Amino acid sequence: MATGQVEVVILGISQDGGVPQPGCRCNTCASSIEEPSRRLHPVSCVIRGIDGSIHLIEATRRLDEQLAMASSVLGLGTSIIPETLCLTHAHLGHIDGLGQFGKESMGLSGVPLFASDSVVSLLRGRDSLGPFDSRIVQPGVPFSPSEGCGFEYTLVQVPHRDEHSDTHAVMVRGGAKRLLFLPDHDDWGQTLTMAGSKGIREWFSSLEVDVVLLDGTFWDSDELEGRDMADVPHPTICESLSRLGERREGDPRILFIHLNHTNPVLDPKSEQLRRVVSMGWGVAEQRSVIVL
Ligand SMILES: [Zn+2]
Ligand SMILES: [Zn+2]
Repeated sequence: MATGQVEVVILGISQDGGVPQPGCRCNTCASSIEEPSRRLHPVSCVIRGIDGSIHLIEATRRLDEQLAMASSVLGLGTSIIPETLCLTHAHLGHIDGLGQFGKESMGLSGVPLFASDSVVSLLRGRDSLGPFDSRIVQPGVPFSPSEGCGFEYTLVQVPHRDEHSDTHAVMVRGGAKRLLFLPDHDDWGQTLTMAGSKGIREWFSSLEVDVVLLDGTFWDSDELEGRDMADVPHPTICESLSRLGERREGDPRILFIHLNHTNPVLDPKSEQLRRVVSMGWGVAEQRSVIVL
């Protein structure tokens, strides 16, 4: 059914482990056990094109619930079948729903899967591409996932623990606006060097993006008691806020995603969330829709 607009539905805002994270006894995870509305899925989006076609970014292990959520938000009644899939990288939380496309569940074949050469090679080596028709994408080159969908993707390379595959952000360009989906990167210094930009503002401005779903995994560097945060490098929200300062006229909307279960912004009453919002930025919400 043609809708005439490109809609992005946010289906998950948590880091790969989700909330509750398996086996975790923290307060955030515990409170989500009795309160299903506090359960969070790993990051993923569905995009409905202007022709009604359905496209998925990331295949998480909560694919079943996320497709049902997309169907509910878009008012489609029955569970939806993604016509294409685009992947940022090959860390487990972003790909462990791939098996759901195969014989044991949806029974699909030939689903176009867009990803970098290194992600496709890795998945081929693990024999994970059975249901897919893989299409290798070059970074920086826009492409349309299907004819008539009314939007284009562009992969933008970012540095991120590349032990399995390289990593990209995905830019989605609709008829009126551009969105950047950037769930994982290691640190701002390396990312900005790779982008050839002096600051975050300059980089986003060069990409001409209107909305950014940005890696906000951790609030600050004291967050993982008993674990070395160098094992899981991400720029903290505190660092992003101090580099950005307050939102200025002409800045994109920045919404933090990929939140670890330990991140205090997950508490709607937290001082930390108030600070993000008071500076003009935000935290993304599951089930929200962004029109491009
Ligand atoms: Zn991740
Ligand atoms: Zn927890």
